[in-house]
Amino acid sequence: MAANWKMNLSLDEARDLLIRIKKNEIDFNKVDVLVAPPFTTLQLANELLDGTDILVAGQNMHWEEKGALTGEISALMLKEAGCSHVILGHSERRKLFFETSEIINRKVDAAIVAGLIPIVCVGETLKEREEKKTFDIIKAQLNESLEFFCEKESLPTKLILAYEPVWAIGTGKTATPEAAQEVHLFLRRWLLENFDHDTGEAIRILYGGSVKQGNIKELMFQPDIDGALIGGASLEPDSFLSIIRFYES
Ligand code: PEP
Repeated sequence: MAANWKMNLSLDEARDLLIRIKKNEIDFNKVDVLVAPPFTTLQLANELLDGTDILVAGQNMHWEEKGALTGEISALMLKEAGCSHVILGHSERRKLFFETSEIINRKVDAAIVAGLIPIVCVGETLKEREEKKTFDIIKAQLNESLEFFCEKESLPTKLILAYEPVWAIGTGKTATPEAAQEVHLFLRRWLLENFDHDTGEAIRILYGGSVKQGNIKELMFQPDIDGALIGGASLEPDSFLSIIRFYES
């Protein structure tokens, strides 16, 4: 269960939330938990979560190691701040910051080289869905965002994919579990076609888009939905904890 805080929570709010999560009894044999705070909160998150099984991720990074790139952050800087993962290709990055799949491909490669695990997001807009282009769009995003690995016909099994239909992000509209599963199965088949069987089966595919307490269990019941990337509902302790503890209900 991966929490994407986006540009939210002050240091005090972040501290309160993390302390609440940390105090809760989470069965880490049943769930992996990760938080992706803003850059200025990474150090605090890392300190507070030290000694727990909760992982910390960056929300973005540049592919270069260093240089004159005002406003950017490198994979090694994220690692130094305690991150094990990084979210790449989120639809907000693609749409608002004009990130292409070609850029994401470079970032994914740089993350892996630096030892960070990328969570690579793909997803279609409402218009693309209505025009019945969902699978074409997802396939193109996968081929282009993972081009280096497709060429090598080898993908690190730790890499994580996230299917996030753009029309379901922050809108309260969730894909039905069956509709989400249909796309997850498409992703799984794409993995199996492009990489060896073990890799295709091992890669985790998260669903993201208005995940909340009321829909997490049904989503997790689907065979190819391995977890969730959660935005709004991860900002409040009770709601995030009820999602994390989906396995109890
Ligand atoms: C997200 O931003 O990755 C996301 C899924 O947001 P929300 O849960 O708020 O729809």
